[in-house]
Amino acid sequence: MAWDFSTEPEFQEQLDWMRGFVRDEIWPLETIADELSQEQLDRVYAPLQEEVKRRGLWAAHLSPELGGQGFGQLKLGMMHEILGTSAYAPNAFGNAAPDSGNSEILALAGTDEQKERWLYPLLAGDLKSAFSMTEPEVAGSDPTTLRTTAVRDGNDYVINGHKWFSTNGSIADFLIVMAVTDPDARPHQRASMIIVPADTPGVNIVRDIGTMEHPIEGSFGKLGNHAEIRYEDVHVPADSLLGDEGSGFLIAQHRLGPGRIHHCMRWLGVSSRAFDMLCERSLYREARGTPLAEKQTIQNWIADSAAQMHAARLMTLHAAWKMDAEGASAARREISLIKFYGATVMHDVVDRALQIHGALGYSTDLPLEAMYRYARAARFYDGPDEVHRETVARQILRGYQAPPDDIPTEHVPTRREAARRRFADILEAVTAND
Ligand SMILES: Cc1cc2nc3c(=O)[nH]c(=O)nc-3n(C[C@H](O)[C@H](O)[C@H](O)COP(=O)(O)OP(=O)(O)OC[C@H]3O[C@@H](n4cnc5c(N)ncnc54)[C@H](O)[C@@H]3O)c2cc1C
Repeated sequence: MAWDFSTEPEFQEQLDWMRGFVRDEIWPLETIADELSQEQLDRVYAPLQEEVKRRGLWAAHLSPELGGQGFGQLKLGMMHEILGTSAYAPNAFGNAAPDSGNSEILALAGTDEQKERWLYPLLAGDLKSAFSMTEPEVAGSDPTTLRTTAVRDGNDYVINGHKWFSTNGSIADFLIVMAVTDPDARPHQRASMIIVPADTPGVNIVRDIGTMEHPIEGSFGKLGNHAEIRYEDVHVPADSLLGDEGSGFLIAQHRLGPGRIHHCMRWLGVSSRAFDMLCERSLYREARGTPLAEKQTIQNWIADSAAQMHAARLMTLHAAWKMDAEGASAARREISLIKFYGATVMHDVVDRALQIHGALGYSTDLPLEAMYRYARAARFYDGPDEVHRETVARQILRGYQAPPDDIPTEHVPTRREAARRRFADILEAVTAND
């Protein structure tokens, strides 16, 4: 029977190395990153990225022929749990979102020329990219309503539209834009993905949006910012199209499945860091004569957090395993389950860790308030909780049907009547013996 929770010793060694590397080399960067320009940050990253490449861990999400390690989702998941402990870690490993997802799109749907021009430099860390789909005017959770258009004009597409929350849009060298190419097609065949170099005339980066995660608007052009962009008569050659016209949704599905697993594992990295802070604080902070660790409420927080994190971890790794074994479509339900569950677990654990630190937790003297703000966004991006719950519930309900005559299957009087009929002989014998 194939059912195994062990990790290969060689890969465990890599994981152990990553854990030490991220803690010793990346965590310190967090405390000064705001003082550095993007250019200075790039200089700090360069030797770290070289070290990761030397260890054979660079861009591990891609197959070996594309310069990656071909890890598969299960190994990648374990790796992301470690990288998730710091927002600055994935960039050192060549698999930061959105570049990692965009490189998957290019690998999947790009032509040889597109790979040459965009994918290989992206993988080498020489280019940055953004994924530009969400629009302020329509529901991002229902992308069939997108309004941005790409109209064929001779050998060009002409793009017009308004996007926002394009992560890294203001530092990207190119954007993958989701635009409607055939408004009359069936809803899921209307849109296409098109590569747009960021310096194309008409690509107007309006601003980097201030958010809960980065509340101070004005820090324009930094890694992790989210850009508002107007595409105004943007001309790109027709060979900028990715895949077939109308295949935007199909490609998006391939991109989003693995991306969600990576997010969920990164969230566990955040949770475990917050959990360590929760446990540490409980041991030395005293109130009413005893350490907080001896209060039952705090013990409940610790136990509940451990249970939730363990459940989320197993669920996520199971989804990754299923995706490796059976493909992204087969793992759809599992991916939706962990997307909303994982986001809640991260929120709950960070919230408890913040609460136990009192005012200190709320202050910027600890990373908890930043983690809390970060955790809130997880309930929206890559699909709001409600949409994933809907997907799960719909799939589950396909395995059920309404009972005949609207009588519940488990209705006891109905079942009793049936049982009496079935066991009539025995019941009669018992009555006769009375
Ligand atoms: C930090 C961050 C990074 C992002 N990065 C990118 C990026 O790089 N590129 C990009 O294109 N986009 C990005 N986004 C945008 C993200 O994908 C959208 O926010 C998300 O798809 C939701 O779309 P919306 O904001 O338009 O909300 P809406 O679709 O308007 O949904 C709002 C709310 O409506 C409710 N709702 C929606 N559908 C249902 C339903 N079926 N049932 C019940 N309730 C429902 C939910 O409560 C939901 O939260 C990012 C967002 C964040 C926060």
